[in-house]
Amino acid sequence: MDPNVLSSVARLSNEALVARVKHLAAGEREATAALIAHLAELDERRLYLAEGCSSLFTYCTQVLHFSEHAAYGRIEAARAVRKFPVILERLEDGSVNLTTVGLLAAHLTPENHRELLDTARHKSKRQVEELVARLRPQPPVPASVRRLPAARQTTVSPTLPNDAAASPNPAGHRDPTDAQVPPPLLPSRALAPPPARPAVVAPLAPQRYKVQFTASAETYEKLRLAQALLRHQIPDGDPAAIFDRALTVLLEALARQKFAATDRPRGSRGVAPGSRHIPAEVKRAVWMRDGGQCAFVSRTGRRCTEQGFLEFHHVAPYGAGGEATVDNIQLRCRAHNGYEAELYSGPRKSPMVRERPAAYVHSRVRLRRSFRERIAGTRSGPSWAPAPSALLHTQRDRPVVE
Ligand SMILES: [Zn+2]
Repeated sequence: MDPNVLSSVARLSNEALVARVKHLAAGEREATAALIAHLAELDERRLYLAEGCSSLFTYCTQVLHFSEHAAYGRIEAARAVRKFPVILERLEDGSVNLTTVGLLAAHLTPENHRELLDTARHKSKRQVEELVARLRPQPPVPASVRRLPAARQTTVSPTLPNDAAASPNPAGHRDPTDAQVPPPLLPSRALAPPPARPAVVAPLAPQRYKVQFTASAETYEKLRLAQALLRHQIPDGDPAAIFDRALTVLLEALARQKFAATDRPRGSRGVAPGSRHIPAEVKRAVWMRDGGQCAFVSRTGRRCTEQGFLEFHHVAPYGAGGEATVDNIQLRCRAHNGYEAELYSGPRKSPMVRERPAAYVHSRVRLRRSFRERIAGTRSGPSWAPAPSALLHTQRDRPVVE
């Protein structure tokens, strides 16, 4: 790799840079597909044995120096490719990636593999998991609330698993309020708080998901209270039913707060000319029209998929006389609202007039500046350029939460 590559990349125009990145990504896919094909043949001939490795996995990690995760994905794909060579084409053209192949591999048959690969084209990991759940529906998991240990031994005891209390209920006993107390821990030399267990959201079957998370004692107490208050309506205290009700109430409250949603919209009282205020009925109409999703569309026709941190954006800028009408207001994610504000007003010259960004933004700007200074010298234009997020509170429309 040319050590000056960063300098040459920095001199590319925006269009050339985007084209170059797409070209390189295509090259990477092509190389991955070729590697998978060669690994499949190497596996078939068991050449890793002669190379001093007991398995293809060992060869991939210790000789090729892939991470365990990368090695596993490539081996899984190599073995799937031997049965269904069409996967190579799909990997090369970017229709599917190694994660998709890994999720689908066990479910591919001579009869269904083409259809499944077509269905999984350009799908996210979650969408492919849902596809698999439709193929092989899993039974519902029993609702359970379990108490995790407050502290665990740092020395693992093979006879007393510390997190035994959090293991799945082997008997499938359904008692939503059952909080099991963990067995007493052996005295240990050092106690540490247990690491937070990552939340799990996994499709089990069509329209059915397993949701698992670690809650605080306060949340658990709220659940107990809700179970008690809803005893007549939800006699078994099913947490799934209670969370569904709670989330419905939360979403209604958020909709009222953020999007001025109401079942009984009042007529507009009008907006004073020149006012920046966006009437509630405009917000509702814009939110519904844009489907709760950023409506930014790139020059190539790609619409942003962001649904979080949405803001109301003036298409014709407010500063240029743009009115707060349904036609002139669209939803934007925070990044695109800031981006368009920057396109309209240009990068701000003086940081003194900006609202003070968060500390981490300052450090990011410093990092960017330092990086630019290292590779600059040859680069024209000002070395200072704010991170896009540093502009979020400047010349842009007001956030949805007001
Ligand atoms: Zn966006």
